[in-house]
Amino acid sequence: MVENLVIIGSGPAGYTAAIYASRARLKPLVFEGFQAGGLPGGQLMTTTDVENFPGFPNGILGPILMREMRNQAQRWGAQLITDDVVQVDFNNYPFTISSEGLEVKTYAVIICTGATAKRLGIKGEETFWNNGISACAVCDGASPLFRAAEVAVVGGGDSAAEEALYLTKYASMVHLIVRRDRLRASKTMQDRLLKHPQIKVHWNCVPLSAHGDEVLCYLQVQDTLTEGLFELPVSGLFYAIGHVPNTQLFQGQLLLDSTGYIQTNGKSTATNIPGIWAAGDVQDHRYRQAITAAGTGCMAALEAEHWLAERSLVSILPTT
Ligand SMILES: Cc1cc2nc3c(=O)[nH]c(=O)nc-3n(C[C@H](O)[C@H](O)[C@H](O)COP(=O)(O)OP(=O)(O)OC[C@H]3O[C@@H](n4cnc5c(N)ncnc54)[C@H](O)[C@@H]3O)c2cc1C
Repeated sequence: MVENLVIIGSGPAGYTAAIYASRARLKPLVFEGFQAGGLPGGQLMTTTDVENFPGFPNGILGPILMREMRNQAQRWGAQLITDDVVQVDFNNYPFTISSEGLEVKTYAVIICTGATAKRLGIKGEETFWNNGISACAVCDGASPLFRAAEVAVVGGGDSAAEEALYLTKYASMVHLIVRRDRLRASKTMQDRLLKHPQIKVHWNCVPLSAHGDEVLCYLQVQDTLTEGLFELPVSGLFYAIGHVPNTQLFQGQLLLDSTGYIQTNGKSTATNIPGIWAAGDVQDHRYRQAITAAGTGCMAALEAEHWLAERSLVSILPTT
């Protein structure tokens, strides 16, 4: 038996693709993941309030939002398998997708395996994760924790510059901690950053540990030139040191960019192999939001549905 469509991943992209594909009566098979590349349900399973997903004026807890997306996909007939995909064969058609216990053939695949924010692993990181430490200013910057408070951003690239500038909308002062004596950010971003009265750059510095009681109160920071230590009193620490896309499985099988993200074709979610689409953070190093992941999941499902129909490959569920 050959499946119509296999979806790999169960974050906002995967479940949205599953909702659209199952409503199109494709009966998609979803490998939700288990341990690889995060949790089943994706990155929002690791957060508390999501305040920017439309439809929830009072916010919604990340795990509840994901549970509801899962329920919606299941209600429309998506088949959910809580297992990691460990191998794929995209060189032969139909494609083969394997987990530890299952091997399936499929006419089409949507990859939604997300990305993982890099962390520094400093002392206190686990204690204050979601309680002062975050990897997303756009997601968490407006939290009451950071209003009119001093916060820190770690990183030296464009993302760090963007996060720092974004945080000036809420924080009274943003400390940018830069490991070297220069920034990798573009000239324009550097100009905006260095001129900003609410941003102070700490060159040649790294945070070593996070301290507080119930919430973050200060960081211990080291000057890498003098090796001297100082305390930075901040309520927030934002990592902007990059993400790793969960694409190890697809290396050598699909076109990836130089940083490992799956390359999609212009405004479409199509990859370089006909019959395979990619949605969400695994193909997006720019926006990295739940709503954009869901949006591209929808696009991928609609594109897959049309592609399968044009080739008369699809076996529609019988009406019951
Ligand atoms: C702490 C935190 C807070 C955030 N807060 C917000 C917020 O408030 N608002 C917002 O819009 N965005 C927020 N984000 C960003 C948002 O979570 C991501 O943009 C979004 O989850 C991306 O969705 P995705 O479906 O592309 O991937 P992910 O959510 O990363 O999901 C990837 C999925 O792929 C699965 N997977 C990986 N490898 C395999 C494999 N080999 N086999 C099977 N499955 C696999 C994983 O199990 C997971 O289910 C936050 C992120 C973090 C980390």
